[in-house]
Amino acid sequence: MSTQPLSVEDVFAKAREGKLWAGHLVPGLTENRNDSFATLAPHDKSEIGRVAKGNSGIIDHAVKQAREGFNSGVWSKLAPAERKQIMQRWIALLEHHAEELAALDCIDGGKPITECRETDIPETLNTLHWYAEAVDKIFGKVAPTGGDAVGLIIKEPMGVVGAVLPWNFPAQMFAWKVGPALAAGNSVIVKPAEQTSMSAYRMAQLAYQAGIPETALLVVTGYGEDTGQPMGLHNDVDVVSFTGSTEVGRKFLEYSARSNLKEIVLECGGKSPQVVFADLHDIDVVVDDILNAAFWNMGENCSCGSRLIVESSIKDELLSKLAEGLKKWKVGDPTDPETHIGPMVEQVHFEKVRGFIESAKEEGAKAIVGGQTLDEGSGWFVEPTIYDLVTPEMRLFREEVFGPLLAVTTFETEEEALSLANDTVYGLAASLYTSDVRRAQRMASGIRAGTVSVNGFAEGDITTPFGGYKLSGFGGRDNGLEAFDQYMQTKTIWYVN
Ligand code: NAP
Ligand code: MG
Repeated sequence: MSTQPLSVEDVFAKAREGKLWAGHLVPGLTENRNDSFATLAPHDKSEIGRVAKGNSGIIDHAVKQAREGFNSGVWSKLAPAERKQIMQRWIALLEHHAEELAALDCIDGGKPITECRETDIPETLNTLHWYAEAVDKIFGKVAPTGGDAVGLIIKEPMGVVGAVLPWNFPAQMFAWKVGPALAAGNSVIVKPAEQTSMSAYRMAQLAYQAGIPETALLVVTGYGEDTGQPMGLHNDVDVVSFTGSTEVGRKFLEYSARSNLKEIVLECGGKSPQVVFADLHDIDVVVDDILNAAFWNMGENCSCGSRLIVESSIKDELLSKLAEGLKKWKVGDPTDPETHIGPMVEQVHFEKVRGFIESAKEEGAKAIVGGQTLDEGSGWFVEPTIYDLVTPEMRLFREEVFGPLLAVTTFETEEEALSLANDTVYGLAASLYTSDVRRAQRMASGIRAGTVSVNGFAEGDITTPFGGYKLSGFGGRDNGLEAFDQYMQTKTIWYVN
C-alpha cells in the first residue's frame, strides 16, 4: 500500500473513472469486491466508486478481532504516552494526505472543496492531535479515606467501541469519535455512513502504516440495518457512540436494552434558534453570523441555526440585508474552489428537503429569497432559502430539515423570545444577539441547549464539550475532555490494611 498521497485532481480523476473504493478493514477478512454497492457524486449523480456491503457475520468477526486485540494489550496496555507517539505519527501521515482526504469528502459527500481543505481536514487533524496530546495528562483520584485503607479511583478503557457515523462531516466525525476512543486505549470499530465511506477507509489504512494495530482500529462499511444494527445488538461491544438522526438514535437504545446494556451515546439532530434583539451591536456582522449558522455546509449540520427569531422592529432591515448577503453564496459544483453551497448528499435526502419546500408553501410561509430546487448539472441542488412568516405550528419551525432553509419568526418581548427559542423538542445549540449583558445572561441560562453562543455563531471547538439537551442527545458529550468519559470505565480499587 502506497504512502504516496493523491492530489485533489488525482482523486477527482479516479472518481470520474468510477474507481474509488471503501471496504472493510478487519484482520483475517479477505475482501470480496463483488459484494458492494455504488457510491455517487451528488453534484452529477455519476458513479465514483464502490463500497463493500457489510453484514452481521462481518460485524461478528470484527468484534472478535477487536476483543482479542484489546485483551492482548497490544494497544490497550501501552502507556498513554506511547499511544500518543504512535497517534502523532499517524497524524503526520494524515497531514501528508490532507489534499487527498479533502478531495474524498468533497466528491463523496458533495461538500465544497474549499471547505474540506480549509475547515474539515484541518479540524480532523486538530481533533486527533488534541486527544493524542491529552491522554497522558489524565490522572485518577485517591478517595478521602482513613489511614487503614487506600481507595483508588482509576479510569480504564471500556474495551470494544462501535462508532456509527453520519455523512455530513465524514472525516471530522470519524475524528470526533476515534480520537478520544483510540487514545483512551479501546479497540474501535468504525461504521461510516453508507453515502460517505471513503475518507474513513483511507484514514484507517494510514493508521496501520503509522503503527496502530489492525485490531485497535477496524472499519466495516455498508448499510445501517446490515451493520449498525448487529453492532448495536452485539453482546461483546461495550459502547456505541452514534451521530445521526434521533429516530435511529432511539433504535440504539433499544438494541442496548435487548442485548448487553452496552453504553450508548447519541449525538442527534437539532432545530437551533438564532435569537436577534433590536439592540444588537453591528447588524452587518450579525448578518454574516446568521447566514453562516443557517447555510454553512448546505444546512446539513446538526447545529444548523435553522430558526431565526427576530424582534419585529428590526425584521425588515435584517431580512433585506440577509437576502442581499445570501446572493454572495455561490451554489454549484463542489469541486469548484469558488463554490459555497454544493448539492444535498443523496436523492432520498433531497426529496425530504423538497418536501419541506412544498409544505412551507402550503402552510403560508413566504420565501423572500430562493425557494426552488436547481438543476445544476442534474445534481441534487436546493437554493438557499429564507422563509418569512413562519409560525410555531408549521413543519418548518418544528422539524429538522438538514438543508439550506431558514425559518423566520418574530417576537415583541424577551419573554416571548425565550419561549419561542425553547418551543422545540430539540436542544443542541442556540445563538443570541443583544448588547444588554443582563439580558444575555438571562437568555443564555434560560435556553435549554447544550451550547449557547452570545453575539456570535460558534459550535465551540475541540476544547469544549458538544452535545444536546432533550431529543438532541443522550448519554454523554463529544469533544472536550468530557468525550473521554464515553470511552472510559471508572473503577475503584481498595487496598485494605
Ligand atoms: P441516520 O439514518 O440516522 O444514519 C446515521 C448512521 O446510522 C449511519 O451510519 C447509518 O447507516 C446508521 N443507521 C441507519 N439506520 C440504522 C439502523 N436501523 N440501525 C443501526 N444503524 C443505522 O442518518 P442519515 O440517514 O444519514 O440522515 C437522516 C437524517 O438524520 C438527516 O436528514 C438529518 O436530519 C439527520 N442527521 C443528523 C446528523 C447529526 O449530525 N446530528 C447527521 C446526519 C444526519 P446508513 O449510512 O446506512 O444510513
Ligand atoms: Mg440512512
